[in-house]
Amino acid sequence: MLMKHTSGRFCVSQVEMAAAPAATFAIGSTGSLGQRGSSLPQSRSFGLKFNSQNPLKSFCGLKAMSSVRCESELSFLGNKSASALRASFASKAQKEKGQNFNYQLQPQASYKVAVLGAAGGIGQPLALLIKMSPLVSDLHLYDIANVKGVAADISHCNTPSQVKDFTGASELAKCLNGVDVVVIPAGVPRKPGMTRDDLFNINAGIVRDLVSAVADNCPGAFIQIISNPVNSTVPIAAEVLKQKGVYDPKKLFGVTTLDVVRANTFVAQKKNLKLIDVDVPVVGGHAGITILPLLSKTRPSASFTDEVVEELTVRIQNAGTEVVEAKAGAGSATLSMAYAAARFVESSLRALDGDGDVYECSYVQSDLTDLPFFASRVKLGKKGIEALIPSDLQGLTDYEQKALEALKPELKASIEKGIAFAQKQAVAA
Ligand code: NAD
Repeated sequence: MLMKHTSGRFCVSQVEMAAAPAATFAIGSTGSLGQRGSSLPQSRSFGLKFNSQNPLKSFCGLKAMSSVRCESELSFLGNKSASALRASFASKAQKEKGQNFNYQLQPQASYKVAVLGAAGGIGQPLALLIKMSPLVSDLHLYDIANVKGVAADISHCNTPSQVKDFTGASELAKCLNGVDVVVIPAGVPRKPGMTRDDLFNINAGIVRDLVSAVADNCPGAFIQIISNPVNSTVPIAAEVLKQKGVYDPKKLFGVTTLDVVRANTFVAQKKNLKLIDVDVPVVGGHAGITILPLLSKTRPSASFTDEVVEELTVRIQNAGTEVVEAKAGAGSATLSMAYAAARFVESSLRALDGDGDVYECSYVQSDLTDLPFFASRVKLGKKGIEALIPSDLQGLTDYEQKALEALKPELKASIEKGIAFAQKQAVAA
């Protein structure tokens, strides 16, 4: 039975007797939800906790778990998923009342997600995190090599989605058939001393070919590009989709969530704030100075000296390089990137599922500035981007305004480079 505690927490209790030791399992992250009583969207946190003080199986079937609590704290699953999970528990508990145990608790898993480049440093942990989503019914993992083992491994996790592996171009169409969300982390990562643009020559062709297959096999899917240089690969994807006659700018996203995740983390540390409350919009693009955290728009509102603004801005812009150097040749950010991309996927699934209150920053086709692609906060809905949110760009500080103007030439050049690449390829074909 679903009970609301005086604390406002929900918990399901006394439904199934699983003699098991105490254990706790929690999943953490943030979802962007609108702020009640405000015209501005704000990140809001939400949480699910599974623990075993009262006996009941969780949706992921851990014997030890005995109660589910949905509470207002850090969660990767977000509001909609938590609601689905609560509803699932409530209806199952109702149905099973008076019967014996051993029922399966399944939230409404109904979306197909494909990860292209799933055997890589980002792809593997990202696939694992997506496997944890109660909204996913099918998880398709594609790579040019080594994906069979990854899929076999992840498929043993007892969460709702069915995992399938697909290797090589001959299996790509099958992988993409009927997919709702395609995430693309395929391609080479940076080594120390490299810029993201140095990856262009290899990754541009990889993204072109993969997006071309998406256009042929699941043209209505949300397409989420992680492969760098994102500033160019997203315009490449747009051109390929245009050439195929299926471009929907509302459904093409450059994944810049990691910049927001980093900004939130660094600001919370610097200002000694509770991390889950912090929300810093990051606009522009996803490379060097094109990454522009709008610290003046930090919520809850916080004040920063000029020195701290400079220090935080530069750290957020160079955070990827911080990881590349620490890994000393073994790649770039993979785990934090997987976490950030999983948050973006989950937000997209909640939007597809009808949650009307989902906001994320993303690099998309835009008319908020004079650049054709620009990262900003966007409102997500069932059909993709419902609105670009202009308010973050209003009332900028002098520092932010100057930084915005300074990033434009570089971002413009990266966009044009991507478009020129895709158009040249089309002419040659
Ligand atoms: P990785 O080398 O560990 O993995 C890449 C995977 O892509 C490999 O498994 C490889 O086999 C696969 N691959 C290569 N060509 C492919 C093709 N044609 N089709 C399908 N799969 C293919 O690299 P990684 O660390 O996972 O990084 C992947 C990409 O993500 C890089 O371009 C990196 O720069 C980028 N990245 C983006 C962000 C961001 O914030 N958007 C952050 C970090 C890394």
